Amino acid sequence: MSFQKFELHEKILAGVQMLGYQKPTPIQLQAIPLVTEGRDLMGLAQTGTGKTAAFVLPILQRFMEKPLGRIRALIIAPTRELSEQTHEAIKQLGHKTKLRSAAVYGGVSIHNQINRLRGNVEIISACPGRLLDHIERGTIDLSHVEVLVLDEADHMFDMGFLPDVRKIVKHLPKKRQTLLFSATMPDDVKSLAMDLLQNPVTIQIGHTAPVMTVAHRFYPVQMGIKTALLKDILEKTEMESVLVFTRTKSRAKSLAMQLDKSGHKVISLHGNLTQQKRKQALDGFRDGRYEIMVATDIAARGIDVTRISHVINYDMPSTADAYTHRIGRTGRASKTGDAFTFVTGDDLALAHSLKRILGEKLQYHNVAGLTSEIQKSSSKNNSPDMKSRNQRRPFARPAQTRRKPKQRSFGNTNRSSWSHRAPSAA
Ligand code: ADP
Ligand code: MG
Repeated sequence: MSFQKFELHEKILAGVQMLGYQKPTPIQLQAIPLVTEGRDLMGLAQTGTGKTAAFVLPILQRFMEKPLGRIRALIIAPTRELSEQTHEAIKQLGHKTKLRSAAVYGGVSIHNQINRLRGNVEIISACPGRLLDHIERGTIDLSHVEVLVLDEADHMFDMGFLPDVRKIVKHLPKKRQTLLFSATMPDDVKSLAMDLLQNPVTIQIGHTAPVMTVAHRFYPVQMGIKTALLKDILEKTEMESVLVFTRTKSRAKSLAMQLDKSGHKVISLHGNLTQQKRKQALDGFRDGRYEIMVATDIAARGIDVTRISHVINYDMPSTADAYTHRIGRTGRASKTGDAFTFVTGDDLALAHSLKRILGEKLQYHNVAGLTSEIQKSSSKNNSPDMKSRNQRRPFARPAQTRRKPKQRSFGNTNRSSWSHRAPSAA
């Protein structure tokens, strides 16, 4: 089945062709006809399986013949980086059409955005905070919005975002199409989300689980040894591009500084940076100037960097769903990837849950002199592991070679029993 079957305008098909998409992914196959019909929809499909085009293509199609100059579609996402990425995808898929998109997020000049919004765009890709800013200033007209998309929808219903999302929705016409997309949708959030939809269809591709194309490895390690272990892995493993997650902004910053001192091409991405620095970091990581990016969870959702071969959880994520999203930055578009997670005594509860869920796909891995049996720690050690520089002991271990990336089909979905949310790590 090719994209021809959707009867998309030839100018839209030109965008599909430019991006080299040969055939639709399962979520695209199911969602595009329903979105084209105008149905409200909850689209759940694993990370990296093409959810963006599943909503962008029918949105473009819907507005091909309509007058220009009014905002007709609004896409909301949790991070500036994801809003920007979706805006870029719209530009590429719609490059032959006359439809125009704008990204609306904070940290950059609001005046440029105001100029852009004056009758010049049909599609907005926004973060909630700056969008509300525009609403309050009266610098955006959302009264003609026909389609609302919440990307990373479950996250948009988290307490951090929900009040803003509610306010925004009040400014939209009641008669509209609403589309929710995510790789995860916990049951308690699902009922909240359903309130926003009218007579919706739910599409679920596979289970809301980590993608099949990723191999999972846990390293039991003491807090103070993490940096030494990371350096050892970076040295001995063949890697293309590595995304390292830390729990806090300051840990991302100091870990990147340490890796930089060890001669790695590394950059950090976290919320304490200016937007300009955030952009430089992600751009540099995308184009290969930096081999390693150390980031907080702002890089966990939606970000699509094709070259990431390894995700390393230097600090354990807070939930099983957060794990799914983080490791979903690798193994995208049917490529393979590796996910390494450092597990300390504080992380045992979530580690056990993940082990239960992933079963044989998850292996514990030991490195002589660096990993150790973990015991539940009584007090939480929040101080960054920055004292371990000289703690590394020499040991002999054969260098690992990276598995040859295998092409796997998009249809190869995970059938594991990823059905519940694990509790957060203690
Ligand atoms: P998701 O939102 O599901 O995590 P994305 O929409 O970010 O995934 O897409 C992941 C990657 O797959 C992107 O690089 C995108 O360009 C690519 N992609 C999307 N659809 C197709 C397709 N039909 N064929 C090949 N690649 C695709
Ligand atoms: Mg996405």
